[in-house]
Amino acid sequence: MLSAFFRLMSYTIVVINLVTGGIFLYLIAPYTSYFFFNDLRFWKYLKYYHKYFFYSASYIWALLRREQGLIKTVLPLTSPPMDRPDPALFRITKHWNLPADSCGECNRCCTFVLDCCFLDKSKNQCVAYGSLFWKYFNCGRFPSSQAMLNYVKCPKYEMQN
Ligand code: SF4
Ligand code: SF4
Repeated sequence: MLSAFFRLMSYTIVVINLVTGGIFLYLIAPYTSYFFFNDLRFWKYLKYYHKYFFYSASYIWALLRREQGLIKTVLPLTSPPMDRPDPALFRITKHWNLPADSCGECNRCCTFVLDCCFLDKSKNQCVAYGSLFWKYFNCGRFPSSQAMLNYVKCPKYEMQN
């Protein structure tokens, strides 16, 4: 129930932010910073606020125009936050020769629709790693479904038998 409320609130914030041309995230800056970066020191992250506005608008546009298949992978509202794929559904493939907690040079799940605005490509690192946004939506739990796994062609995970 709490997860559903939190997701609905988050979607509402995204919509209000789009309608206000990206201003809204600045008006709630400490919350924005905590939600995306796990840090109330919002002044450190202001450069991402407008990036997120353009990213979210482009992402929604891409879903509607060319990636409609992804719409059915949207998480149920009540899904719990997760920081790893569900071990009952997914395992690391035996071909994966990097440490289990590394994705090496791969960033497919951060770029398969658009380059995520929180991906620091110079280090191949996520600046939103571990945040509420990361845990409640598709990042921490990736892959969240077989459809998502197939869509992204992730080289690391496969379905459990
Ligand atoms: S893991 Fe980080 S960089 Fe990748 S899509 Fe999620 S927020 Fe963006
Ligand atoms: S697609 Fe798979 S291997 Fe690549 S970054 Fe995402 S989880 Fe890691």
